[in-house]
Amino acid sequence: MINIGGPDDWSRWFAVEQVERGTWLVGEPGHVNCFLVEGTERAVLVDTGLGMADIAAAVSALTDRPVLAVNTHSHSDHRGGNWRFTEVAAHPLAAGTLTQPVDGDYLAGYLDVARAQLAAYERAREADDRFFHLFTDASRPRPLPEAADQWAVPAGPAPRPLADGERIGLGGRDLTVLHTPGHSPDSICLLDERAGLLFAGDTLITGDFWAHTPDTEIEVFAATLRELADQLAGQLSAIHPAHTLRYRAGPAFLTAAADAFEAIVAGTSAGRPGTDLLLRPALRHEFAEFTVLRPPAAR
Ligand SMILES: [Zn+2]
Repeated sequence: MINIGGPDDWSRWFAVEQVERGTWLVGEPGHVNCFLVEGTERAVLVDTGLGMADIAAAVSALTDRPVLAVNTHSHSDHRGGNWRFTEVAAHPLAAGTLTQPVDGDYLAGYLDVARAQLAAYERAREADDRFFHLFTDASRPRPLPEAADQWAVPAGPAPRPLADGERIGLGGRDLTVLHTPGHSPDSICLLDERAGLLFAGDTLITGDFWAHTPDTEIEVFAATLRELADQLAGQLSAIHPAHTLRYRAGPAFLTAAADAFEAIVAGTSAGRPGTDLLLRPALRHEFAEFTVLRPPAAR
């Protein structure tokens, strides 16, 4: 595939799909799923992605309202575009990281994995086109932007601190902040109560749950998922997680995740030795719709 590059690289890089009225996936397929949630007065961008292409330009093609960028947590792949926005908000624990640039070695390592992923997609695509037909326009991984080798993520603006239970009013709709520690201490989800949409960040993942990094506290993660499942039972129409090509899950996914984490904490789920996508060792706890990664040895 030819990547022409140039100033509107973003239009080739981002996958945009309206998932609900006034709500768009602004995705980096295979990397990060960001979502734009628009009210009558302003809009929230849930996460700013890798920062390889100009997400602010992609967003301004969708809305003319002022945009508040909200990070679901401070991990590098969720805040790459923060520096392109003047208004940013996040959990208070995220502030220290978000106001620092991202380490260049991390970005170089990420690029290697991104290139391996793209090569894997090109192989998978042939089989998909012939047999499976799972890739859609919104889920086809894109060639890397021409400027990927110059990729840098500068420090972002100081985020406005978000408190658990706080409502972000957008005009005609609002988003409620839910502090959901577990994947990381600074993780939040955003709930559009009226529409029944949960923007889950890395708290819910339709592939590998990352619960094997030093940031993760498994008991806290399990308690968060159970609380969310109890609190939101019967209220949700869709869950939008930040990773994998399955950027929409049904409400039952939350209960399945809570049950799985409970089984891991209780010691009734046996993990199998394997790796994460970076090929680092991890115990893989496999469930019907997803896998939970744990550290290779008990901590
Ligand atoms: Zn994360």
